[in-house]
Amino acid sequence: MGRLLIRNGRLLDPSQDLDARGDLLIEDGKIVGTGEGLSAESAEVLDAEGAWITPGFIDMHAHLREPGQEYKEDLTSGGTAAVAGGFTQVACMANTNPVNDDPSVTQFILDRAEKNSLAKIRPIAAATRGLEGKVMTEMLTLREAGAVAFSDDGATIMDTLVMRRVLDYSTLTDAPVIVHAEDCHLRGGGVINEGAVSTRLGLPGNPKAAEEVMIARDIRLAALTGAHLHIAHVSSGGSVELIRRARDSGLRVTAEVTPHHLTLTDEATLGFDTNTRVAPPLRTSDDVRILRAALAEGVIDAIATDHAPHATYEKEVEFTEAPPGMLGLETALAVSLELVREGLLSPLELIRRLSTNPAALLQLSGGSLVAGSDADVVLVDPELVWTYDPSQGFSKSRNSPWAGHEMTGRVLSTIVDGRLVYHHERGVLIR
Ligand SMILES: [Zn+2]
Repeated sequence: MGRLLIRNGRLLDPSQDLDARGDLLIEDGKIVGTGEGLSAESAEVLDAEGAWITPGFIDMHAHLREPGQEYKEDLTSGGTAAVAGGFTQVACMANTNPVNDDPSVTQFILDRAEKNSLAKIRPIAAATRGLEGKVMTEMLTLREAGAVAFSDDGATIMDTLVMRRVLDYSTLTDAPVIVHAEDCHLRGGGVINEGAVSTRLGLPGNPKAAEEVMIARDIRLAALTGAHLHIAHVSSGGSVELIRRARDSGLRVTAEVTPHHLTLTDEATLGFDTNTRVAPPLRTSDDVRILRAALAEGVIDAIATDHAPHATYEKEVEFTEAPPGMLGLETALAVSLELVREGLLSPLELIRRLSTNPAALLQLSGGSLVAGSDADVVLVDPELVWTYDPSQGFSKSRNSPWAGHEMTGRVLSTIVDGRLVYHHERGVLIR
């Protein structure tokens, strides 16, 4: 591998609070350094005029469907969609078939990813066998096999004693437990937020309290065990207050929010588009406002996509029958940039939440442009206007409420370990 010089961009590196014009030099897969007027001698040159140069994004929450549901996505398509969206590392949830509750499955995912994925794949192992919430997995062995966290995402471990044990054992693995906080009894058959919109549409509602009661429980258990509790896809403003109090009292409680919960409300469901059915559901404009403020303030640490591909025929059914979830990898940046345009986050702080913070939460290398780091780098044009067409995207699935929408901001190029793996055709020249 040779030298690559990325020239004349806006360097954004949250790990060193760097926001400055300059160049980035890469050699043999590592970052050599940043600065102005770096020598291009014997280097390939990438012109980044007008673009941001940032560390590769890290998605701590995606469903890549392999093994078992490759008709929705696999590590090849998911890895390509990831780098097209600027994600150089992706943590994938355990609800595959078979479930990633055994080191052989973790190893299988890592082997397949090594061969087939352009993005680096970081498996999240199940916390309980078969995601059934009853018997703990062999967490230490799974950790040794390469699991970066533990989660039964998709369901809550309703048995509080089992949850306590999971949190207890996680402290031995030094990896977070990621919770999908939703009381399944209180949720019942709810498919959208319980409120005026669910009443109007005549759809069963899922109250915010279903999320809040489980977050409250899990925070108590985090206090009991000292574990690192990470709360996935926070959707309710009330949850933010619980998380804030837990953090203020010094607990290891962290949280993520999705681009869709930051920008859409339950009113997006008024047309019965099944692509707006997600778990947890889209909430109200008050919740969106509180989530945005919490992300800006740092009460919520990271943006995570919850990329959840489903086949078209699975979504073309009655709203109540559609599986929850939407695509996220290829739209996360453009959707999240809305917060920058509205002045809630600076560009540097947005990149911190897409890259540097998730790296820290999962204890991954990355999220930095410091000399010596792996050369996982993204070039972003924050102004580029484009129309999102999932059929032209890299995911195998098309379930996005943003299909056909005009987006502003796009990833131009993605570099993994010094190798240019994705290059948007306009805007950047390789010489
Ligand atoms: Zn979930």
